[in-house]
Amino acid sequence: MIVAPTMAEEILRVDNLHVSVEGNEIIKGLSITIKKGEIHALMGRNGSGKSTLANVIMGHPSYEITSGTIHYFGQPLEELEVFERSRAGMFLSFQYPAVIPGVQVGTFLRKSVQAIRGENAPSARDFRKELKSHMETLGMDKSFLGRYVNDGFSGGEKKRLEILQMLLLNPKLALLDETDSGLDIDALRDVAQGINSITQNSGCLVITHYQRLLQLVEPHFVHVMIDGKIVKSGSSDLAGELEEKGYDWLEVAA
Ligand code: ADP
Ligand code: MG
Repeated sequence: MIVAPTMAEEILRVDNLHVSVEGNEIIKGLSITIKKGEIHALMGRNGSGKSTLANVIMGHPSYEITSGTIHYFGQPLEELEVFERSRAGMFLSFQYPAVIPGVQVGTFLRKSVQAIRGENAPSARDFRKELKSHMETLGMDKSFLGRYVNDGFSGGEKKRLEILQMLLLNPKLALLDETDSGLDIDALRDVAQGINSITQNSGCLVITHYQRLLQLVEPHFVHVMIDGKIVKSGSSDLAGELEEKGYDWLEVAA
């Protein structure tokens, strides 16, 4: 399929990226460009390197870029520390969100908004208003705020918290790593609504195994990753094709 290039602003450009972890090459020549307003879905079997890509974009220290480049709004990413990437509008929703016993959700969210927005952080009153409206969007009860971050949370609650944090931080580039796994249909709908509400002004990379999320967020592009490379890209129809045929038919291209 030939996709017509748009004039939208380029947010992320990954060029012929190679990444190693502990001496093993995991990403083997991957390129992708994400523009403002675009949702890109990244699919592929476990172990193909999807999380590695998300982690390396965010700046995880365990991953070494051995060649290739990543640019964010035209700036080489290696110049930015993780916290600077975050302040510059990058957001990663973890595949496995960490538990932080002793830190209440409300405090965590307020501090993260202050850390990212700095001088532009809302007053306590405005923050509460924003928080309330996003929690309503996501169907989250107020009692959530007093609980410790992810402590004893169900899979769905953890993923809702990731999306709540994303809505508060309002990122320019959202990397969502299997944010839909383990969600029931109501939670999935809420998470999809959260994603859709930021995409007009952001670029979004959605890593998923399931077409059911992609029916609710409608990606502009679907990419299939096998063994550290994107072996096929297409429109949202490709997700349906994968659901039907699996990944075997693409192995030859890998
Ligand atoms: P996916 O998200 O597509 O399932 P990952 O990026 O998590 O794939 O993993 C790709 C490969 O890289 C796997 O073989 C995994 O074991 C390896 N890998 C990823 N992160 C690390 C790490 N921190 N240390 C060692 N190996 C890793
Ligand atoms: Mg993964």
